[in-house]
Amino acid sequence: MAERVLILNQDYSALTVCSVQRAFLLVYLNKAEMVADAKDKFLRTVNNSFPMPSIIRLIDYVKLPYRGVLLNRQNIFRRDGMKCQYCGSLSDLTIDHVLPRSRKGLSSWDNLTTACRNCNASKGDSTPDEAGMLLRSKPFKPSFLLFLRDFSGNIDDQWYDYLGKASRQVAKIQDSYS
Ligand SMILES: [Zn+2]
Repeated sequence: MAERVLILNQDYSALTVCSVQRAFLLVYLNKAEMVADAKDKFLRTVNNSFPMPSIIRLIDYVKLPYRGVLLNRQNIFRRDGMKCQYCGSLSDLTIDHVLPRSRKGLSSWDNLTTACRNCNASKGDSTPDEAGMLLRSKPFKPSFLLFLRDFSGNIDDQWYDYLGKASRQVAKIQDSYS
């Protein structure tokens, strides 16, 4: 598995991931600095050995257009591990408004969840509480970084400090389905 390096913006927000080679080049050119190295991993040349970077930070701030994860059916399913969040079913998936639309529930990351057709129908216009249904995970807005293909199955624990609270959960889901 190719080692990946997390690139932070100058303000320590997570930006993207890159290869070790690219990370070295950025540090060598003084465009980035090491924040954390991959523990016990080294890059060796004939005469030297360098600690392998795990997190680097850009020296200059890079302004990027907003790169959130698009709110759509497929991304909600992915966040929820392609499972009904009420019964765990893998088939006939639909999108459920936790607080129903008829009661001013919003179409937002934190009010939409994955539900199979049966659960969605039996919940109807109720909240999970009223319907006596237990939601297995609280809906949340995922970080776009965790949706990068390169990301899955190769996350250094040190990265979580920069990826936000929900990241561990998404990472676990991705692991279990990659
Ligand atoms: Zn269900």
